[in-house]
Amino acid sequence: MKIKRLDDSVVSKIAAGEVVTGVHSVVKELIENALDAGARKIVVELLNGGKSEVKVRDDGEGMDEEDLKVCFLPHTTSKISSFSDLSSLSSFGFRGEALHSISSVSKMKVISRTVSSPIGHEIEVVAGNMVYSRPVHADVGTTVIVRDLFFNIPARRKFLKSAAIESRMATEMFEKFCLSKLNVHFVLVREQQLRYDLPPSDLLERIKAIFPDIPAQNLRAFESEHKNMKLKGCLSLSPVQSRGMIVCFVNDRFVTNQLLTNAVYAAFSDVLEKGKHPFVVLNLSISPKEIDVNVHPQKLEIRFINEEDVFRFVRDSLKGFLSRPIVKQVHVHEKVRVAEPVEFYRSAPRVERTEQTEEKLLEEEPFRIVGVARRRYVLFERKEDLLILDFHAAHERIIFEQIMNSLSERKGKTLLVEMRIRMKESDSATLASSQVLRDLGFELEANGQELVVKQIPEWMELSEVEEFLRDSIDELKLIDLQGLKETIKKILADHACKRSVRTRDRLSEAEMIELVKRIVNEGHSTCPHGRPLMFSMSFKELDRFFGRD
Ligand code: ADP
Ligand code: MG
Repeated sequence: MKIKRLDDSVVSKIAAGEVVTGVHSVVKELIENALDAGARKIVVELLNGGKSEVKVRDDGEGMDEEDLKVCFLPHTTSKISSFSDLSSLSSFGFRGEALHSISSVSKMKVISRTVSSPIGHEIEVVAGNMVYSRPVHADVGTTVIVRDLFFNIPARRKFLKSAAIESRMATEMFEKFCLSKLNVHFVLVREQQLRYDLPPSDLLERIKAIFPDIPAQNLRAFESEHKNMKLKGCLSLSPVQSRGMIVCFVNDRFVTNQLLTNAVYAAFSDVLEKGKHPFVVLNLSISPKEIDVNVHPQKLEIRFINEEDVFRFVRDSLKGFLSRPIVKQVHVHEKVRVAEPVEFYRSAPRVERTEQTEEKLLEEEPFRIVGVARRRYVLFERKEDLLILDFHAAHERIIFEQIMNSLSERKGKTLLVEMRIRMKESDSATLASSQVLRDLGFELEANGQELVVKQIPEWMELSEVEEFLRDSIDELKLIDLQGLKETIKKILADHACKRSVRTRDRLSEAEMIELVKRIVNEGHSTCPHGRPLMFSMSFKELDRFFGRD
């Protein structure tokens, strides 16, 4: 017989893999339990990015000795007792899975005391087995300490990311709770340093504390109601950030939901420039009967029973808010000046042309600009063919090549006066610890919500530094997925694109010709993002087409 029943401890380990995917998911489960217990204050502490220790302390209702001794067993929960309870669920947990999963892949201690008991109790569970249980002095509430995550599953421990990355992901998880549970006091301590201390406040204050780079004067709170749905949140009135941020909660629960994201984009569609993204934090209150949260063990995904109603309500509420008169005053579109190569074309001296003079001219200058269409396609005449160049893409390519060529030297220039950029604390940490940026010639230091720039790459202009760094954040987060080389390329390609938009209206005709020559000589056929650069048609083909051969 080849079929065997799996050992319970193996089953637990496999199941744990679904609930516990990293430090951030431990943080998530423990905060949720604290909230379910009615905590008013929650303190999260991480050591070594949480890989060595995650500690979550709350002042909630606590557990007595009996509860403590079973809380880590599979399917133990105080939150539902029958299947029908599921539809009216308002707590975070209900599967009785989290403590069981966490404790089977770590060394977990739980210390807890209820109001009705004069002393507290402590248990330690190692790899799913209770090691001891004893009375201890404790405040009312619960402290859960999770040490050495995945210590007993080396294969999974290997997949934990670096302390810096685990720490950042856990911080982002923490921040999401701060954005949804406004009446709870949240504290985050990382590597024994206080990172956040957020007493109860309104959403606006929380957003200011967590996203210091969003201009506070652009933030507005909104609220609306329709039938049994309620929408509350905050948005930025200048949807001009190159990095968007849409954080959605449903009944205070953080969710990733395409429908809500789409509804937000639909609402912003009229005011959004290409390449810009909205900043919105929203919380949708809806009857639990109208949603299905049981689709994924991490419970991050939900489904709405009546999708169309929800979509319409969110889109129209935000749209209504965005179209209020005050919005128009505040919302100033920052127009990028679009180059008009047409101008220099017109100013070129007009020579009386005959076929002979044309040929002679082409001998002196093998590329002659014939015209410009749609402000972007430059038509060149060469000896053998007509060439249509996507000017913007070509320019981008050249800038990209210049930067790439200077990379091998890894030179940076030290700033006489350090530059300080305010941003999210986790972002400044990401940037400061990035090897990619060091390789490019940056020297950066994270100082809480401030990034200190000490040295920048040789080829970079001062005015570009801030935008470049902000734009890099998202790509740097993907580094594990796409690798170092690809990340550098992507960051630089985006940068080349922006720089080309900024500088192309300063190019003279001679520089244009220089540009097309370089493109042709260096054999480039695509822009850094992979789009083609040019299109050519030989005079032979043309002659054939017109029946002249
Ligand atoms: P669930 O949250 O799905 O019920 P968990 O495994 O996360 O399952 O927790 C099991 C049980 O332990 C909870 O139902 C709750 O009764 C108790 N518990 C866990 N954490 C706490 C806490 N911080 N305070 C009070 N009780 C808790
Ligand atoms: Mg739970």
